[in-house]
Amino acid sequence: MTGKVYLVGAGPGAADLLTIRAARVIESAGILFHDALVNPEVVALAKKAEKVPVGKRHGRYSTAQNFINKRLIDAAQRHAVVVRLKGGDPLLFGRAQEELDALAAAGIEVEIVSGITAALAAGAALGVSLTRRGIARNITFVTPRVGRNETASDWAAAVLAADTAVIYMGSGEAQAIADTLIRRGMPADRPLAMVENASLAGEAQHIARLDQLGSLTARLGGGPAIIVLGEVLRERLAISATDHTAQHNLRNHLRHA
Ligand code: SAH
Repeated sequence: MTGKVYLVGAGPGAADLLTIRAARVIESAGILFHDALVNPEVVALAKKAEKVPVGKRHGRYSTAQNFINKRLIDAAQRHAVVVRLKGGDPLLFGRAQEELDALAAAGIEVEIVSGITAALAAGAALGVSLTRRGIARNITFVTPRVGRNETASDWAAAVLAADTAVIYMGSGEAQAIADTLIRRGMPADRPLAMVENASLAGEAQHIARLDQLGSLTARLGGGPAIIVLGEVLRERLAISATDHTAQHNLRNHLRHA
């Protein structure tokens, strides 16, 4: 028997942001391999499946990509429906191509089921359009993260050229990101947002200027976080600055009362 492997996007976190197609495929899975970031509620939809965590959470345990590829191929010999569940959309920063290539080389049929990527969940959390007439006509999705033995890409050039930039896997090096972009000519007051746990219970957002990005790291709680950078956030920055002034005035008022 040779089964079919589905590369399925689990969405940004909230279980009800799965597509109906993803939910159906997960429910029919004989075996399910999932990343560490995937919500346990989503994994639990696979009622009949053997569940195999193959976490890739940075800094925590991880399973070598070659080993994952091999396990997917083996699983397809034993199960009609093999699900490989990845956070967000499977085709963005998820090493899907390694799995697609390995499965193709083994002659195994694959289907990709799209998911909502973290950038879009962050936009929804912020309540801000990522494109905007006259201000933002393009978006770039980048990561400064470089894997072992990989040549670095010029992520900063892409961000500098973008109207709106969404930076994945960058919260751990926020200060370095800000330093690089300012050194390469981005205005220090470019508005940005750091969104943590988008769509999840612990969702938090921090609005700041580019030159304040480094200081946001201390306010993170350890969940996945993404950086949205661009003039589309200008009003939000103005409002949050007013909030800070209002809070400051209130604190002073209380102190002197
Ligand atoms: N394939 C995924 C991205 C994997 S890379 C997708 O399409 O979303 C993992 C990075 O995604 C994290 O470091 C973080 O930057 C971002 N991310 C994933 N889930 C997130 C969430 N719920 N809130 C904020 N950022 C998230």
